[in-house]
Amino acid sequence: EGSVVNPGQSSVNAVMTAPSDANVLFDGKDLSAWIGKDGKAPKWDVKEGVLTVKKGTGDIRTKQMFEDFQLHVEWKVPVNITGSGQARGNSGIFLQGRYEIQILDNYKNRTYSNGQAGSVYKQTPPLKNVLRPPGEWNVYDIIYTAPRFKIDGTILYPARVTIIHNGVVIQNNTEIRGHTPFVGLPKYTAQGKGPIALQDHPDPSE
Ligand code: MG
Repeated sequence: EGSVVNPGQSSVNAVMTAPSDANVLFDGKDLSAWIGKDGKAPKWDVKEGVLTVKKGTGDIRTKQMFEDFQLHVEWKVPVNITGSGQARGNSGIFLQGRYEIQILDNYKNRTYSNGQAGSVYKQTPPLKNVLRPPGEWNVYDIIYTAPRFKIDGTILYPARVTIIHNGVVIQNNTEIRGHTPFVGLPKYTAQGKGPIALQDHPDPSE
């Protein structure tokens, strides 16, 4: 799919810690910074420092609301993943609760270009496919500038996003054209700060 790049090796045994001014949303221990479906405690699993989607329990989102931010995310799909196309390890990160950066196992799994991992979903494909295979960690560093709105609620300027995936730029100051509908054109409605949300996608894959 697209232009495939081998991202090289990470220093897998290095212990990584957050920068001193970081707002740590998941510390490997609990989901105290998160809210689940209907405002209840999230039901996703936390085990051995890893947060895993619990299928069917719904998306989760941060309690804290954000405008502009830099976000570091490490993710992987299970080594025993099954399925194809969009039904293979589908999740996603919703910036301000609305604008989805896709998570998917499209390592040797063909799908539509703007549905690949690292796409602004249904808008802009990643510049490269830098995926690591199932069972290995992928890293996103996301630099996000929120949209701004006029007093009357119309758009002043759109959101922008830069994404570095496994050390390779895959979105370079990309304009986000609006929210993330499955069908139809993206559009903006005025909003203030919003959460960071993680997707529980209804596909049946692990
Ligand atoms: Mg998704």
